[in-house]
Amino acid sequence: MAIDFPALSDIPRPAEKRIAVRVRPEAERALRDGHPWLFEHAIVSQSATGNPGDLAVVFDRKRRFLAVGLYDPLSPIRVRVLQHHTPAPINREWFFQTLTTAARRRQSLVELPPARATTGYRLVYGENDRLPGMVIDRYAQTLVMKLYTAAWIPHLHNVLSALMAVFPAKRIVLRLSRALAAQSAALFGLHDGQILLGKPLSGPILFQENGITFEADPVAGQKTGFFLDQRDNRAQVETLAGGKSVLNLFSYTGGFSVYAARGGATEIISVDASAPALRAAERNFAHNRHFPAVASATHTTLTGDAFAVLEQFFQQHRKFDMVIIDPPMFAQKKSHTAQALAAYRRLTRLGLQVLVPRGMLVQASCSSRIPAATFFDTVHQTATRAGRPLREIARTEHPLDHPVTFPEGAYLKCLFAIVP
Ligand code: SAH
Repeated sequence: MAIDFPALSDIPRPAEKRIAVRVRPEAERALRDGHPWLFEHAIVSQSATGNPGDLAVVFDRKRRFLAVGLYDPLSPIRVRVLQHHTPAPINREWFFQTLTTAARRRQSLVELPPARATTGYRLVYGENDRLPGMVIDRYAQTLVMKLYTAAWIPHLHNVLSALMAVFPAKRIVLRLSRALAAQSAALFGLHDGQILLGKPLSGPILFQENGITFEADPVAGQKTGFFLDQRDNRAQVETLAGGKSVLNLFSYTGGFSVYAARGGATEIISVDASAPALRAAERNFAHNRHFPAVASATHTTLTGDAFAVLEQFFQQHRKFDMVIIDPPMFAQKKSHTAQALAAYRRLTRLGLQVLVPRGMLVQASCSSRIPAATFFDTVHQTATRAGRPLREIARTEHPLDHPVTFPEGAYLKCLFAIVP
C-alpha cells in the first residue's frame, strides 16, 4: 500500500548520478575496517561537486569499491556510509531490508510478557543500525525520527515508505538536530517538530517500559522525549531499591524514581534543574498508582542544581540508602574531557557524603568522549581517596536497542556499588 506524505511534496528525489571519491590511506583503512564516517579532510579527489543526499561511492587506490554513503557538503563528516565492501542500489528495498534488520534486533523487547510490556525503545540507532545520522525512537504508536544530516532529506520518500512497511505507526514526528535545523535551504520546507504522518500531538504520549507507564513529549521534551537508553539500569535499580530511601539526581521525568518506587523504596527525592521535567515526574508517579508500592512510596521533587542540592543535604546531615547520579553529557568536545572527569569526581565525592554506611551508589556517564574504563576507574579512585573504597555490584554499558558498532557510537556506562 502506498502511503502519501504530503509533507514531502516539495522534496526532490535522490539524484541518479553518484559521486566517485578517492581518499587518503588512513581513511581507506578505516573504511575497510567498517568505520561509517569519511571526513572532508580525508578526501583526495571527487568526480563532481554534490548536493546533500547524493550518493558517494568511495574507491581505493586500485579502484576497488570500498563503500557507498550519503554525501553532505554542509558537514565535516562528508560521507556517512550506508554499506561497506559490496556495492548496492540504495533504494526503498535497501531501506526496507535495513529497517527490518533493525526491528528484528529489538524483537525481544516487543515480545516481553504483559507485566513487562515495553512499547518505548530505540528502533534505529544511527550508524550502529547502518542508517547513519538518523535515530528513530518508538513511543507506543508514535515514531520520532531525528535527523542529524540534510543528506537524508531526498531519501525520505523511500525511507518513510519502507518504515511504514516495517512498523506501521499511527504517527511520525520529525526532529532535526540543531545544526540541521539551521540549514534552511536544504530542508525544502521541513521543520523541527513537524508531523510527517498522523494526527498532531495533543500533549505527551503515554508508553510502557517494563510494564511501567511513562509519558514522553517528543517535541517539548529533551532528546526525543525520554532517555530510553537507561531502561536496563532503571530495572536494575528496581531490584535493589526495596525498603530504601533514594536520592535521584538529574532525574529528568523521574524514570529511575518510579522504578525505585515499584521496587519498594520508601522515600524518593527527584532532583532536576528543569521544572517541567519534574512536573512530568509527578505525573509519571500518578500514571503508576495502581502498583501498591508506587502508591505507598513518598515522592518529592526538588528543582535546582544537583551539585548545590548535594552540598545542602551534606550540611544538613541528610543521608540516603541509595544515591543515583545520571548527569547530562559533560564532555561535548575533546577539550572538555578533563573538566568532565573533574565533575564526575565531584559528584562521586558529594554522593558518598550523603550515603549511609553500606549505602548504594549508582553513577552513570553519557559522555562519549570518556571511555567506559576511564569512567569506572575515576569513580573507584575517587571513592578510595575519600576513604570509602567501593564494592562493585555491577558495571553496565549499552542496552540492546542502542547497539555499538564503532568507537564513537559508545557513550553510556553505569556503575552500581556499595560504600563501606
Ligand atoms: N536520569 C534521567 C535522565 C537524565 S538526563 C532518566 O532516567 O530519564 C540529565 C538531566 O539533568 C536533564 O533532565 C537535565 O534537565 C538535568 N540537569 C542538567 N544540569 C543539571 C544540574 N546542574 N542540576 C540538576 N539537573 C541538571
